[in-house]
Amino acid sequence: MKDPKLFLVSAPSGAGKSSLIDAALVRANKSDLPLELSVSYTTRLPRKGESDAKDYFFVSKDEFLDKKNSNFFIEFAEVHGNLYGTSIDFVESKLSLGVNLILEIDVQGFRQINDLSMNYESIFILPPSIHSLEERIRNRGDEDLNAIDLRLKNAKDELEHASEYKHLIVNDSFDKAADELFNIIAQNESLNKINDEEVQQFLAQLLSY
Ligand code: 5GP
Repeated sequence: MKDPKLFLVSAPSGAGKSSLIDAALVRANKSDLPLELSVSYTTRLPRKGESDAKDYFFVSKDEFLDKKNSNFFIEFAEVHGNLYGTSIDFVESKLSLGVNLILEIDVQGFRQINDLSMNYESIFILPPSIHSLEERIRNRGDEDLNAIDLRLKNAKDELEHASEYKHLIVNDSFDKAADELFNIIAQNESLNKINDEEVQQFLAQLLSY
């Protein structure tokens, strides 16, 4: 069996990251590939339908800061005005069981793990267009207008960092993008593959808006 790895997956909100990760988890399950999604800690309030210990460990700001001060997190960041962090124990216990782990984290978290000597792959998911990104953020319908504006601004800022990641996936066709994500995780393609020219050109085009 190959050594288990971390798969750091980032995307601007509205790029369809969570659905792609769900699809990759289903594919892994069908292929008997041990793969789970890391459950982060956050000070954000639960959205409708979210539950504690499944979507996030929802904690108060004081609790989060106590954990941060006792080096509980492998990485943490403030995103859209809330704190998010990944537990070292959670990650280590899964890896020691041979389970590959997806970390759905932002660029700041990716950089912190990048500085550690861990076995990981980094993946950035691009939206098919800036227009689609804006539409998805506006249609989430669960937040106030200021939060939407902040998410839009952050989404554009995050895109600026996409080229720091080893793998870029364009979420233009859902099934194709889900296959690409799963193939990277299952190591079905050369891990030395450099993002092809077409994707880089596409990214440059997104950034020019
Ligand atoms: P949401 O509030 O929509 O669930 O997540 C907002 C952002 O926080 C997303 O970009 C997500 O990737 C990021 N995020 C979620 N959990 C973590 C975490 O543990 N660490 C970091 N650095 N970012 C996270």
